[in-house]
Amino acid sequence: MVSSPVKNDGLYIGGEWVTPATQEKEEIINPATQEIIGLAPVGGMKEVDAALNAANDAFRNGPWPRLSAKERTAKMQEFHDALMARAEDIQELIIAEAGATRMLAQTLQFYTPMEHMQFFIDASLQNQTTSLPVEITPSMTGEKLLGGGVTVREPVGVVSAITPYNFPYFMNISKIAPALAMGNTVVLKPSPFTPFEALIIAEVADEIGLPPGVLNVVTGGANVGRALTDDDRIDMVTFTGSDLVGASIMGQSAPTLKRLLLELGGKSALIIRQDANLQQAAISGMIGFTLHCGQGCALSTRHIVHNSIREDYVQLLSTMVQHVKIGDPSDLQTGMGPLIRESQRDRVEHYVGIGLESGADLVMGGKRPEGLENGFFYEPTLFNNVDNSSALAQEEVFGPVAVVMGFDTDEEAIQLANDSRYGLAGEIYSSDVGTAYEMALQIRTGIVHINGGAGKMSSYAPYGGFKRSGIGREYGYEGLAAYTELKTITFHAG
Ligand code: NAD
Repeated sequence: MVSSPVKNDGLYIGGEWVTPATQEKEEIINPATQEIIGLAPVGGMKEVDAALNAANDAFRNGPWPRLSAKERTAKMQEFHDALMARAEDIQELIIAEAGATRMLAQTLQFYTPMEHMQFFIDASLQNQTTSLPVEITPSMTGEKLLGGGVTVREPVGVVSAITPYNFPYFMNISKIAPALAMGNTVVLKPSPFTPFEALIIAEVADEIGLPPGVLNVVTGGANVGRALTDDDRIDMVTFTGSDLVGASIMGQSAPTLKRLLLELGGKSALIIRQDANLQQAAISGMIGFTLHCGQGCALSTRHIVHNSIREDYVQLLSTMVQHVKIGDPSDLQTGMGPLIRESQRDRVEHYVGIGLESGADLVMGGKRPEGLENGFFYEPTLFNNVDNSSALAQEEVFGPVAVVMGFDTDEEAIQLANDSRYGLAGEIYSSDVGTAYEMALQIRTGIVHINGGAGKMSSYAPYGGFKRSGIGREYGYEGLAAYTELKTITFHAG
C-alpha cells in the first residue's frame, strides 16, 4: 500500500474534502525512479460543477470579496506563513513529483514563489484608488458644474487557474496569490502529472480556515481543464502551459468572453557578442538547457554567438556541462534530474533525430545516460551550426537540448533572435552595456536580461510573452492588476 504524500485523499471543494464520484485514482510516479509516490483522486464533471458553484457562492455571497484589504491581507499572510511552515514537506514533494533537483526545489521552485506571494500580499494593501482630475463643465442652465471622480480596482470574480507540470508549486502560487489577494475566488486545476503540489496548498488553506469556496482544487486532465474554460460561471481563466493548449483555451472561452491571462511556451535566445565575458555567458548557456532538464518556459535554448568566438564558446560550454551531475534529484550535488515522463523523453528524442537529419553538428549528448535505467533521464545535448529555420531551432523541445548558431553583426543577431514564433525571454552578454541595452530594446520578448540581470527573478518585474508566448503579464503590480476590473466612479461637487 502506497501512502499518500498529502494527508487527505479527496479534492478540495467548498471547504470540504470530496471523494470524486467516479472513485477514480491515478498513480503518480516519481520521474527519477518510476516508483509510485501516491494515488491521486481524479476529478470529473460533477466535481467541476460543485467547485464552480462553491466558488460562485463564495464570490457572490461570501465574506472574502467584501473584507477590507487589511483583513484579507492578514488572512493571506497567515496562509503564506503556514505554507512556509510546511517548506520541507513541499520541497520533498517538488523533488518526488516534478523531478526537480533538491537545489532547485529549495530555491527557484519554492522560495521564489513564496517571495512573489509576499510581494502580492504587501502590494494588495496599497491604495488601489486613483483620483481623476477635477473638471468644470457647462450645464444646460448656464451655471458651471464642478466634478471629479476616481478609479477603483475590484476583483474579476471566479477565476479558473490551469497549471503545467514543470514548476507546479510555483505556477499554482503565482496564480492563487494575486487572485485571492485581490478578492477573487479560485478553482485550481493542476497538471495530471503533479496533483499533489496543488492538494498540499489546499490542505494548508483548510488548516488556516480560508472561507469555504474561496479556493477549490479539482484534479484531472484536459476534459476537466476544458470544463473550467467554457462555463458561464467563470469570469477569468489564468493559464500557464503550451501555446497549443493556450490557443484551444482562447477558442473554448470565446463564446462566454472570458478575461484571459495566458503564459505560454518559449524558445529564448542567448546573444553573446564578441566582447562578452565568455565564462559568465557559458554559465548562462549551461543553465539554459540543463536547469530542470530543460523543462522551463524561459530557458535560453537558442545560443546566438559571434562567429569570432563561437568555437571557443562551444568548447567552454561543453566542458562545463560535462561536469553537471545527472541522476538522483534528491541528492544536493545533482545538477540535472529527469524529464517528467517517457512521453516527454520520446519528444526530446524526436527532436534530436530531426537535428541529426538536418546536418547540424552534435557536440555532446544525443542519448540516454548510462547507468540510469530507471527514470526518464536524458543527456544534455548540444548542436552547433544549426539553421534557425529548422524545426530544432523553431519548436519548443522542452528538454535538455540547445542549439548554437553564429552571427557577424548585431543586426544579424537581433534578426535571428526575433525570427521565432515565440517571444518570452532573452539574454545578451556584452561588456558594452549601452549597445546591449539598445539591442534589448529591439528584441521582441517580454523580458531581456543583460549580463545575467539582477541574478534573480524580481517580484517587481512583470513577466509574460510577446507573440505565441502569451497574452497579459504576471508578477509585479501589473500582475496583481491582471486579477482586477477597473471601475470609474464619478461625482459632482455641490
Ligand atoms: P500543457 O499545455 O500540455 O498543459 C497545461 C495544463 O493544461 C494541464 O493542466 C493540462 O491538463 C491542461 N489542459 C490540456 N488541454 C486543455 C484544454 N483543452 N483546456 C483546458 N486545459 C487543458 O503544458 P505542460 O506540458 O503541462 O507544460 C509545459 C508547457 O508549459 C510548455 O509549453 C512551457 O513553455 C509552458 N510553461 C510556460 C510558462 C510561462 O510562464 N510562460 C511557465 C511554465 C510552463
